[in-house]
Amino acid sequence: MPHGYNGKILHVDLTKGALTVETPPEQFYRTYMGGSAMGLYYILKEMPKGAEALSPENVLAIMDSVVTGAAISGQSRVNVSARSPLTGGIGDSQGGGFFPAELKFAGFDGIVVKGKSPKPVYLWIKDGVAELKSASHLSGKLTGEVDAILKKELGDDKIEIMQHGPAAEKGILYSSLLNMSNRSNGRTGMGLVAASKNLKAIVVRGSKKPELADAKALTALVREGPKLLPENPDMDGLAKYGTASVVLPQHSMGTLPTRNYNEGAFESAEEISGEKLYDVYLRGAADGKQDRQGRDTCYACIVRCKRVVELDGKYPVDPIYGGPEYETIGTFGSYCGVTSLPAISRANQICNANGVDSITCGATIAFAIECFEKGIITQEQTGGLELKFGDTDAVLEVLDQIVNASTSLGKLLGQGSERAAAAWGKGADECLVTVKGQECPAHMPQAKRSLGLIYAVNPFGADHQSSEHDWMIEDGIASDLYMSRMALLGLPDRLQPMSLGPEKVKFAYLTEAFYSMMDTLELCQFVWGPGWTLYGPQETAEMVKAVTGWEVTVDELVAVGERRLNLMRTFNAREGIDRKADKLPKKFYQALQGEGPTAGIALTHEEIESALDEYYRLAGWTNHGIPTKASLQRLDLAWAAELL
Ligand code: SF4
Repeated sequence: MPHGYNGKILHVDLTKGALTVETPPEQFYRTYMGGSAMGLYYILKEMPKGAEALSPENVLAIMDSVVTGAAISGQSRVNVSARSPLTGGIGDSQGGGFFPAELKFAGFDGIVVKGKSPKPVYLWIKDGVAELKSASHLSGKLTGEVDAILKKELGDDKIEIMQHGPAAEKGILYSSLLNMSNRSNGRTGMGLVAASKNLKAIVVRGSKKPELADAKALTALVREGPKLLPENPDMDGLAKYGTASVVLPQHSMGTLPTRNYNEGAFESAEEISGEKLYDVYLRGAADGKQDRQGRDTCYACIVRCKRVVELDGKYPVDPIYGGPEYETIGTFGSYCGVTSLPAISRANQICNANGVDSITCGATIAFAIECFEKGIITQEQTGGLELKFGDTDAVLEVLDQIVNASTSLGKLLGQGSERAAAAWGKGADECLVTVKGQECPAHMPQAKRSLGLIYAVNPFGADHQSSEHDWMIEDGIASDLYMSRMALLGLPDRLQPMSLGPEKVKFAYLTEAFYSMMDTLELCQFVWGPGWTLYGPQETAEMVKAVTGWEVTVDELVAVGERRLNLMRTFNAREGIDRKADKLPKKFYQALQGEGPTAGIALTHEEIESALDEYYRLAGWTNHGIPTKASLQRLDLAWAAELL
């Protein structure tokens, strides 16, 4: 009998309206474990080479892992992957909340969707029974409205709903999938893929928690959590101030992207800080009750880092849409020069209610502002709107035009900044901050240099949660606890700040493999991780063993992460995407402006090209960034080598 997982994958053919259940063997689960590794297994086998992202042949995989739903912090996450309409390569997104655990309790470890329904439908799964139901009445509704309608319709407040919003129905390329109306599988346009299949939502409810192999061992790890939390300064700050706890450190280190990544320090950083959000704007802050009312959590997590904002006034915010994460504060705040947390919280609500990725959306608006300020576009292209950094209402106006696709500017920016740059010409590409067509998150590789490498090589475009950031292992910052955990990955030494030599590339590659494993086991990277988190590598292996009964080692887990990376690169290589796409935007090679500590700093082409050579060598890939037969065979992926 499986422990931790159900042993069931649901297959949905929307063209035929057919639902079938597969029961893969234990070896399948031990090899792929969950997330996009499991998703890629189906995508590579079932999606024909060359199939377009928005065609019925695209395969949309929604995957938990073997440990999702075990009652310990940081395990309730779900992956959605498919070919991305934004990048053209593999798409991948992670999201948290209660949906992931509830999917497991409803009887399935994952769902594989292909085809296209003739009419909008939603998938309703309750205690192992799945059916397709009409969703025609949900079209055009905001995510919060859909949540309320479905809870009433199904007569159950406890259902969990993953859905795309109305933005996807308007063809916005970076449409997301939301659960709870505030937990987002945000990146790479997975909401648009679901909409292209006429799949409005997946609704789950279950009563069967997975059996654990060793409940006592898991309880012992659970009990460690509350002891470790207050002792760990990184975790304690995250719990109280949320991900926005890093706004001020990013600013003081010169890595808070400001005015479309032209500067690394924002003079109004305090105004948009996690501290200000907590002190003034979280629900309950006026009465000092924000710890109870303004912090939310994911299933079984003691950290409670999620924000809840409730505001009246010029920028009203409904608490059902949560509150802004650091990335949203970065893209709608410092990227755009906006200093108002209420306005940023309002932007966050609009993104969540309509279902768009707030990173790509805010970054695309910042790009348009720079193009306007440089005279690349004029009021002719903006419909008369003047775009300026720091003009809060203009930013919200453009956001409104994007999510409603109501103007030619809104429609164009809904395709992301690379397509807008191609349409505008006149050197607009100099203002881009994209990799593989995806806008960069709010962490600057000019100072976190190994992140530049990871932004370049990541199969689904620039991503900030695919490796450990440089600071953590650098002299002057790395703690003893951190270094003791890094030693388990074969990284015993602190490294020089701002370096990108072979040792830093090794750090990037090994921590990327570890993060990739966490995106396979669907673990929250604020709880589980290689270094700074609540639990380290050894505890991760112990947790997997306690849940599944498998005698896993840290090395086996790192190999699981490598397996996912190799499958994603295999997908891209099959579609003709290789080293040529592992390219950073021109802007990263130009000196940063402004007054911050990173002013004057830039990456160089030589160091990035040499880091790429070293990275491919460590991965066992060709110098064009393509997995070799030998590397795929080492990872028990000989079948994937046949695809290249
Ligand atoms: S740390 Fe935050 S995001 Fe992660 S599982 Fe806990 S509440 Fe959710």
